[in-house]
Amino acid sequence: ASSQFAQRNPASRAQHERALQVMPGGNTRSVLFYAPFPLAMRRGEDCRLWDADGHEYTDFLAEFTAGLYGHSHPVIRAAVQAALDGGINLTGHNLLESQLARLICDRFPSIAQLRFTNSGTEANLMAIAVAKAFTQRGKVLVFKGAYHGSVLTFAGGPSPVNVPHDFLIGRYNDAAGAMSLIQANANDIAAVLVEPMQGAGGCIPAETAFLEALRKATSDTGALLIFDEVMTSRLGPHGRQGQLGITPDLTTLGKYIGGGMSFGAFGGRADVMALFDPRRAGGLAHAGTFNNNVLTMSAGIAGLRDIYTAEAALALNTLGDSMRKRLNAVCRAQGVALQFTGLGSLMNLQATAHPIAHIDDTTEGDPRIRDLFFFHMLEAGVYVARRGFTVLSLPIRASHVDKYVQAFEAFVQRYRDLIG
Ligand code: PMP
Repeated sequence: ASSQFAQRNPASRAQHERALQVMPGGNTRSVLFYAPFPLAMRRGEDCRLWDADGHEYTDFLAEFTAGLYGHSHPVIRAAVQAALDGGINLTGHNLLESQLARLICDRFPSIAQLRFTNSGTEANLMAIAVAKAFTQRGKVLVFKGAYHGSVLTFAGGPSPVNVPHDFLIGRYNDAAGAMSLIQANANDIAAVLVEPMQGAGGCIPAETAFLEALRKATSDTGALLIFDEVMTSRLGPHGRQGQLGITPDLTTLGKYIGGGMSFGAFGGRADVMALFDPRRAGGLAHAGTFNNNVLTMSAGIAGLRDIYTAEAALALNTLGDSMRKRLNAVCRAQGVALQFTGLGSLMNLQATAHPIAHIDDTTEGDPRIRDLFFFHMLEAGVYVARRGFTVLSLPIRASHVDKYVQAFEAFVQRYRDLIG
């Protein structure tokens, strides 16, 4: 499969060779590398992508969820153009930042006040920092399989590039295990940081009872509960927290909320966020040249106000639910050890039919299956992540879903013997 890929993509290969000269491995985003070399994308329009060799793909990755609006949505384009027309580096407070903040606070009722960053990574770093300052404690409970940013990653165990906090690492969806960790460290835990569905970990939803137990234990011990909704905030009109009816103390956001521009935000309880009030003696400083950049603010406002309404969120995630059901029906009908996990518009192929509660459940099956799936889908004109992560963006229609499901059925038939 990979030699056919190499033959089909000479321009991407040449691009990779140029990149190798100036970037280690030709790469500046680890997640985008795969052997023998990654595709180089030339252009996008709605949910279509064209690579350097001119192949067209239906984009079922959508910038790992930041591309919710599709490529160059006319409303986003007009908002970015308006920002450009008004000058982009105003070096002051501007007229847009509080408008985007207002839209976000209205959408997520747990967020009374917020601050902007440039990425989801920074949002989580700042949320941890304020939780430590607020509680005057040092430990942070996270879960194996979590991804909270490029320097806060626990997917393959803690990473050497992680910012060195005093992390405790629990088992996702193991409420009893988390309770004993929290109780054993009751006076030391500043925060519990958790994704309501592990995204990079493989689209593994948290059980409601697990998150409820975290809510109760943090309240009981005076730790802050931080929901990392960088990926999951798109799942409903009020984020995943709205669907679950669980109110975290702090929430971190990113991805599509900046309209496809660089974005992050963190916010929540007013008494916690008040630590950043510059009028306050001894307050926390939080700087960032691009925190309030007008391109992000303008695109973000247009997206939340005019495009990703409550109705749009419900429709997109209903389409995702029905797609995942169809894919899982194919797995069952064909009797293969495959399944798609996830919620709403986010899903991930897994090479096992067994129930999946945490990342250790996802390592079953022949590791070649994900490779073959990826190259098969590319040949069929469907662009997904190398790990099988699949994302719906707003331009995706029933016909695109049909194309994906048909390509997946053909994949199962082609490799049935290997899949088992
Ligand atoms: N948290 C989660 C749950 C994420 O999925 C991501 C990005 N994949 C991040 C944090 C980090 O966001 P960014 O890439 O904008 O730093």
